[in-house]
Amino acid sequence: MPAKPTDHLPIIFSNPLFTLQIKQNHSDTSIKMVMLTNHLNTKTLPNTTKVLNNNLPKIYSHKCFNYLNAPFQREVKKTEIGHLFEHILLEYLSDLKKDPDEKFILEGKTKWDWQTDNVGIFHIKLNIGFSDEVIVYSALEKAISLLKIILKTNSKKAQILQKPQTLTS
Ligand SMILES: [Zn+2]
Repeated sequence: MPAKPTDHLPIIFSNPLFTLQIKQNHSDTSIKMVMLTNHLNTKTLPNTTKVLNNNLPKIYSHKCFNYLNAPFQREVKKTEIGHLFEHILLEYLSDLKKDPDEKFILEGKTKWDWQTDNVGIFHIKLNIGFSDEVIVYSALEKAISLLKIILKTNSKKAQILQKPQTLTS
């Protein structure tokens, strides 16, 4: 009888702008993303393209299967934050994933249903499992940093969550 794969414990990444709950099994990684700001779509974050151009221009080469069949370059201007995060993560992962045969195609999917879930919750799934645990966490750390830059660069409203600075002199 084949051994039943044991799920790793969920891991939480948390910051004032969003939290991520990660769960991996042998073949995929599931991420529950909870947004803690009122920015849920890049349409309220007009500098997103600029930040991506400066930090992660290769993201525009992604194939993106979206409702409007728009190329990612157009899609990114008006897409849900969870979907943007998925693409950022995939780009960092493709940099880290060493595949000598280049046969493996990294894929992701982002779903949300704000009638069942609270508004601002996304479910992201990647086709990479716990044998790649190390690179998944490394890519997650990079993707979290970049998303924080996007949310802060763009957003006056996201900054209300930060403590007001005391002005001196
Ligand atoms: Zn996409």
